[in-house]
Amino acid sequence: MAERSSWSLSGALRGMFQRPTIDESTWDDLEYALITADFGADVAEAIIEELHAKVDRYHTTDPRDLKRMLRETIEERLSNFDTTLKLSERPAVVLVVGVNGVGKTTTIGKFAKFIGNFGRTVVVGAADTFRAAAVDQLATWAERAGAAIVRPQHPGQDPASVAYQTVEYAQRTGTEIVIIDTAGRLHTKGGLMDELSKIKRVVEKQAPIAEVLLVLDATTGQNGVQQANAFIEHAGVTGLVLTKLDGSAKGGFVLAVQERTGLPIKLVGQGEGIGDLTGFTPHVFAEKLVGA
Ligand code: GDP
Ligand code: GDP
Ligand code: MG
Repeated sequence: MAERSSWSLSGALRGMFQRPTIDESTWDDLEYALITADFGADVAEAIIEELHAKVDRYHTTDPRDLKRMLRETIEERLSNFDTTLKLSERPAVVLVVGVNGVGKTTTIGKFAKFIGNFGRTVVVGAADTFRAAAVDQLATWAERAGAAIVRPQHPGQDPASVAYQTVEYAQRTGTEIVIIDTAGRLHTKGGLMDELSKIKRVVEKQAPIAEVLLVLDATTGQNGVQQANAFIEHAGVTGLVLTKLDGSAKGGFVLAVQERTGLPIKLVGQGEGIGDLTGFTPHVFAEKLVGA
C-alpha cells in the first residue's frame, strides 16, 4: 500500500496502548476508535466480543497483546473473502460498474497500467457513451497506460455495441485483457441496470465475463454502499474496488464493506496518479490499519 494512510487507526489507538493494563476505559476507547473509523456498530461490537473472549482465554492484561489480537482479528475477518482477481480466460473480460464520480474511469486507467506491468496486453472499451467527455477521459488514460482503446463510432452509440466491438478487437488481435468502462447514471436506475444487463448478454455470447468490479468511493463510507445497492442486486458483481482511500479517515469501512455486501475487495485506489492502485492483501492492510 502507499505511504499515505490517514485511514490508519494508530492515532486513535495510541492512548489506549499507553496504559499499563487493559481496563474498562481500554474497551471504551477501542469501541470509540472502531466506530469513528466506520467499522459500523455491528462489526465493531462483534470484534470487541471476539477480543474479550481472546483476552480471557489467554489471561492477559497487557495492552500490547490486545493490539496484536486486534490486528489478527481484523486480518482473519478480511481473509474470509477471496480477494484475488480471476483473469485467466483469454481474453479476460472485466466490466467496471458503479455510480457517477466514484472513480471508474480513473481506476481503469490505473488498472490497465497495473496489468501492463505484468506484461499483459490490454484494451479498454469506452462503453460510457452517455457523456461525450467520458470517452476522451478514458482515451487519455489508455494512452498513459499504453493500452489500446475501442471508442464509439458515433456519439451515443449503443454501449453494448461498443463492448461487443472491444471484445471482438481483443479476439482479433490476441489482446489478453479487456476492461469495459460503463455509465454511472441514466434517466432512471432501471434503465442503467437494463443497459448493463444488455452489455453482459452481448459480451457473454463472445466470451465469459471474468470479473464485474463495483467501484466504491471510500470517503462516502456506508452511504456509498446504499447508493450502490442496485448494482449489487442486479449487475452480478464479483468484486469491489475501493477508491479514494487516500482521502478517507475511515479505514474500518474496508472491513465493514466486505461483511455488509458479502463481496471481496479486489483492488484499492489511493490517489489520482497512475501508480496509485494496488491489489488487496489482508495481512498488509491489517498491519497498516492497526499498526505493527
Ligand atoms: P467515474 O465517474 O466513476 O468514472 O469517476 P472518475 O474516474 O471520473 O473519477 C472521479 C474523480 O475522482 C476524479 O477527479 C478522479 O481523479 C478522482 N479519483 C478517482 N480515484 C481516486 C483515488 O483513489 N484517490 C483520489 N484522491 N481521487 C480519486
Ligand atoms: P438488440 O440491440 O436488442 O438487437 O440486442 P442484440 O443482443 O442483438 O445486440 C446488442 C448490441 O450488440 C447491438 O447494439 C449490436 O450493435 C451489438 N452487436 C451484436 N452482434 C454484433 C455483431 O456481430 N457485430 C457488431 N459490431 N455488433 C454487434
Ligand atoms: Mg467515468
